[in-house]
Amino acid sequence: MQKVMLVTGASRGIGAATAILAAQRGYAVCVNYKENASAAGEVVGRIEAAGGRAIAVRADMADESQILSLFSTIDEHFGRLDGLVNNAGILERQMRVRDMDSARLRRILEVNVVAVFTCCREAVGRMSTREGGQGGVIVNVSSMAARLGSPGEYVDYAASKGAVDTLTIGLAREVADEGIRVNAVRPGVIDTEIHASGGEPGRVERVKNSVPLRRGGTAGEVAGAILWFFTSEAAYSTGAFLDVSGGR
Ligand code: NAP
Repeated sequence: MQKVMLVTGASRGIGAATAILAAQRGYAVCVNYKENASAAGEVVGRIEAAGGRAIAVRADMADESQILSLFSTIDEHFGRLDGLVNNAGILERQMRVRDMDSARLRRILEVNVVAVFTCCREAVGRMSTREGGQGGVIVNVSSMAARLGSPGEYVDYAASKGAVDTLTIGLAREVADEGIRVNAVRPGVIDTEIHASGGEPGRVERVKNSVPLRRGGTAGEVAGAILWFFTSEAAYSTGAFLDVSGGR
């Protein structure tokens, strides 16, 4: 039976590349998005045109009830879940911590941390052999920012990714004997639209020379790392981190 993967925030960027690669590797894919229905539809269209199976499901990760209905839709449509990629993530305009208000901090933590916990909880409930599931794989999309701290840009975002790293370690150990592996990929500077949300669409160009490989990465390069954790070659890897950052 065909395995099923949920990729959150899969209408654009790293999530879209991951969904397309997952379909090429034989997964039926749930393409989650927040508002860009046409971009999500294009990802589904590309997958179907290549003979794959996918659905696009709108759900705002900032809203738990929408996350629950996303998982219910997967239950109804596919009847199983084998993989989760917690990819949806946000950042806001570059500023110093001194200028960040609590509403902003809550928005960042809601999507980048609380939703990742919620999606993990729902996925574990469906995958855990302890609860009658068949096991599975979870990959969290963290960031090198968790280690670098992003001073003067978005320390809030960096801290949220630090929380994702700790969740990855703890959950991996918690569910290791329930057939579930939990790992994380830490991208560096990747050429996607996320930098425009920070107010600097050209950020990759500006910082690329500080990257040892002297360029930004591509969404496809991150997707390849994410999908590696779903292969049998990764069968002994859990609670592990794969940095895709050009050496930065
Ligand atoms: P992106 O190009 O900005 O795409 C963001 C995706 O997430 C879109 O599909 C968007 O959907 C979706 N999304 C945003 N808010 C959402 C919400 N509240 N609920 C559901 N979906 C939501 O981002 P990206 O650069 O590919 O980043 C993907 C992940 O990689 C994030 O976790 C990010 O932190 C991480 N990362 C990125 C970089 C980088 O340099 N790009 C580096 C390190 C880590 P809509 O199209 O509907 O808006």
